[in-house]
Amino acid sequence: MKEPLKITFLGTGTSQGVPVIGSNHPVCLSKDPRDNRLRVSIMISWEGYNYVVDCGPDFRQQMLRHRVTRLDGILFTHEHADHTAGLDDIRPFFFRQGDIPIFAHQRVADSLRKRFDYIFAEANRYPGAPAVEVNIVKKDRPFKIGDIAAIPIEANHNRIQVFGFRLLDFTYLTDVKTIDEAEKEKIYGTKVLVVNALREEPHHSHFNLEEALGFIDDIKPERAYLTHISHLLGFHEEVEKKLPDGVHLAYDNLVIEV
Ligand SMILES: [Zn+2]
Repeated sequence: MKEPLKITFLGTGTSQGVPVIGSNHPVCLSKDPRDNRLRVSIMISWEGYNYVVDCGPDFRQQMLRHRVTRLDGILFTHEHADHTAGLDDIRPFFFRQGDIPIFAHQRVADSLRKRFDYIFAEANRYPGAPAVEVNIVKKDRPFKIGDIAAIPIEANHNRIQVFGFRLLDFTYLTDVKTIDEAEKEKIYGTKVLVVNALREEPHHSHFNLEEALGFIDDIKPERAYLTHISHLLGFHEEVEKKLPDGVHLAYDNLVIEV
């Protein structure tokens, strides 16, 4: 590949999104567009390829916002609804392109099969239902997306296993609470790292800000971006000022090149 990877932050919010429905929290009422966060997802684009990581309930809006006309595949981090609930909205891509490749842990594929049985059905398919081509991701097996390798990185979201992905000099991790040393080895040397930072208070299944910054300090990328952000972390503008050099809060519609 000759072009850099273009990373589009489609969503940078935690599971309920920001604003939270019905909330009067000042961050939920903020007029700064960077404080409006759809459910977490990125699109990775290069040379005509578009892959997304996760496909949450805001997927349709995210595809429309960025006028995406082609989708080459979906990489899933884990099965939680804020990462998977938009799967039905691959329909327009399916109608144009045929079965849409998905890349997921066996457990995640099984969960999707239960929740979206009509997408996976082999007989008596409902006309208009989309279909997927399932690719099972295993911890130590890099796989190909387009013409590059995706390296799965295993981490823990409390008791749930999650996958992050390294693509060349870019690494994306979300919903991480702990990660083993052997998996960190796969990340060292990455130039750009995206990692989740929920809020300042500790949480049972997510890095808080301090844990995320500690992890970034360990990996030492050239640049790092925080995502999967709760309104409780505070206003974008104020939090951004407090971050160390080279570390930024991601926000929806931010585009970076790696
Ligand atoms: Zn999540």
